[in-house]
Amino acid sequence: MLRSATNFALEKVIDGVAKAAANMSDAGMLRIISLLRTLMPADWYTNALNAAEKFVKEKHPGVEAARRIGRSLSPHVRKMMVRNFVLGVLIEGNKVRKKFYDEEGFNAPPMLMMSPTSVCNYKCYGCYADGEDWKTELEPELIHRLVEEAKGIGSRLISLTGGEPFLRKDLMDIMSKHRDVMFSVYTNGSRVTPAMLDSFAEWGNVHLSFSVEGPQEFTDDRRGAGAWSIVMQQMDECRKRGLFFGFGCTASRKNLEAAVSDEFIQTMVDKGALYGWYLNLMPTGPVESQDLMLTAAQRYWMRERAGVIRRTFPIYLVDFVNEAWLVGGCMAGGRKFVHINSNGDVEPCMFIHYAVDNVRNKSLREVLRSDFMKKLREAVPHDARDARPCPIIDYPDRLRAAIETTGAYKTTPDAHQLVTDWAPYLDEYGAEFGRLDEKHVANVNDPELVALRAEMPRPEVPLGVEVGKRYGPRRDAAKETCGTGCGCADTAPVARAPESQAP
Ligand code: SF4
Repeated sequence: MLRSATNFALEKVIDGVAKAAANMSDAGMLRIISLLRTLMPADWYTNALNAAEKFVKEKHPGVEAARRIGRSLSPHVRKMMVRNFVLGVLIEGNKVRKKFYDEEGFNAPPMLMMSPTSVCNYKCYGCYADGEDWKTELEPELIHRLVEEAKGIGSRLISLTGGEPFLRKDLMDIMSKHRDVMFSVYTNGSRVTPAMLDSFAEWGNVHLSFSVEGPQEFTDDRRGAGAWSIVMQQMDECRKRGLFFGFGCTASRKNLEAAVSDEFIQTMVDKGALYGWYLNLMPTGPVESQDLMLTAAQRYWMRERAGVIRRTFPIYLVDFVNEAWLVGGCMAGGRKFVHINSNGDVEPCMFIHYAVDNVRNKSLREVLRSDFMKKLREAVPHDARDARPCPIIDYPDRLRAAIETTGAYKTTPDAHQLVTDWAPYLDEYGAEFGRLDEKHVANVNDPELVALRAEMPRPEVPLGVEVGKRYGPRRDAAKETCGTGCGCADTAPVARAPESQAP
């Protein structure tokens, strides 16, 4: 009885937050912050709520991004976002994670990343998923089990990536059954139908991150002719339904300048995208992908540019690797997430294709205890400012040591290049970015840095030039149907490449 009275009161406050979010005037936002203070235990999120209050009072430009989100969502999606995020992730999820900490001595991640399939109907150069040589899938029962286990340890955010997740038609059933979980799906948009979007509007627990590479010519160059138009149409449809959606962009040596240009960001805002996630192209694909990685100078410029965009445009934008201080440093190894690949291997990050465990024979809780995950978790912070956060590109020696000392096995055919052929390049790369960052700390007005900030380090790889040896011409995204060659959108039964098997 007492519990139901408490829940009733909580529901009322949650509804109050959702209603206030519709208005999003300054007074409305201050009311939300005040309501959130009543919901959160006193010592939780105090700094974040204080900062949010200060931003609203000082009319920080970033507040416009929050205002846009509140006003763009349909009433039901808004309510479900508040329920699932505030109640599910921040309150109930945190309580469960605190209990997990007491039992295990380390934090459970708030987010689980999963790749239900390695299959993709696109063929983007440098893609970490590398669906070229091997095709694997997680069975629906296994995905259900993982979602249940994730809830059980307080992970209420599930991120689905791939391959193209929507080649799996059974995903709809899975997401529909777990409406108390927020699903974030990274998609090329080509397999999303109006009926699916109607369902997302009805459920309110699914948001879509559409993959683009900057403006049309850059998106179609990497992802295939027609890829941009498909995303533009899907964004229009999402906006009409009041869905929460945004874009995901991989910054590379080919597209950097265009991918963060005023024109591109304005297009995304005009299309209704409410957030943008940037990731660096990482050296994990099947081609010599270090040829496409941002140079150290471009990386420095990129992180400065991301801050400028946030202060200029009403869109919530994070450059995850270069601005890792915004997300508390490297999130890998279970600190904030782990990645279950399409074979069930547990990878610390979707860009680290090594594992010591597979979820087919261990629980989620068990795999988080491994020495491999522990070593990567405990290495954070790699530097005091979380400005050089990444064990792949900033401290490759630490990643190599973690792989070697724990006997981690590779999970994709070419993953070993990270610790063999590419090691000297990555060591040099990490040192060069470190040199720039140390200069930044010592004197932000150092002439070299001033010059870098003033002038974009130009892209070095022109469009249309193939990088690496194994890729033929891009597919035509508008015409292609599925990645299996069978001509339909279904994924075929899959076979694991022998060299990727767990030992
Ligand atoms: S390993 Fe690198 S890319 Fe992965 S979460 Fe950590 S910082 Fe980000």
